[in-house]
Amino acid sequence: MDVLTGEPLALDLLNTRANMPDGEFDVLASPDTFREWLLAQDGRLSPVETADDADLAAVRALRGHIAEAVEHARQGAAPPQTALDALHEAQRAAPPYRRLTWDGAALTATVIRAGDSRARLLAELAEAAVDLLAGPAVTKVRGCEGPGCRMLFLPAHPRRRWCSPALCGNRVRVARYYQRHKD
Ligand SMILES: [Zn+2]
Repeated sequence: MDVLTGEPLALDLLNTRANMPDGEFDVLASPDTFREWLLAQDGRLSPVETADDADLAAVRALRGHIAEAVEHARQGAAPPQTALDALHEAQRAAPPYRRLTWDGAALTATVIRAGDSRARLLAELAEAAVDLLAGPAVTKVRGCEGPGCRMLFLPAHPRRRWCSPALCGNRVRVARYYQRHKD
């Protein structure tokens, strides 16, 4: 998969919609690419039982609200209340609680979430968005400088300009090369 992963989870979610050289690509347009993306999250999300069209539609809707909230917050502006309400709603539908189990000798507590598989997924994504939005890093979120690229990232290094040097860094170098050798 060519989309950017490995950023804070909320940004990874926003980066599921990408402008690729051959047009717009949406990870959430098909259950297969969505499952692939979930695997790439490598334990950052609870296992998802299904990834059907209704799940995808729900995640797409939440992604829209998170995109709106991040876009405002990273410029130091107040996000629309509808976007924030959507994040609250998603978390409230699957709150975490601690379940006690007897292991034969003692009780152990494990944090789990109420709600079905979809509600849990949405709650985890919303929680990741809240972490980002309320954290000090949100104003450091940067958009890739690649032409037409819409990937967002949190630069660990202040000079980082591309979502990925392999993707956009190369694309820009190639474009410049042809620009220089055009005449
Ligand atoms: Zn890029």
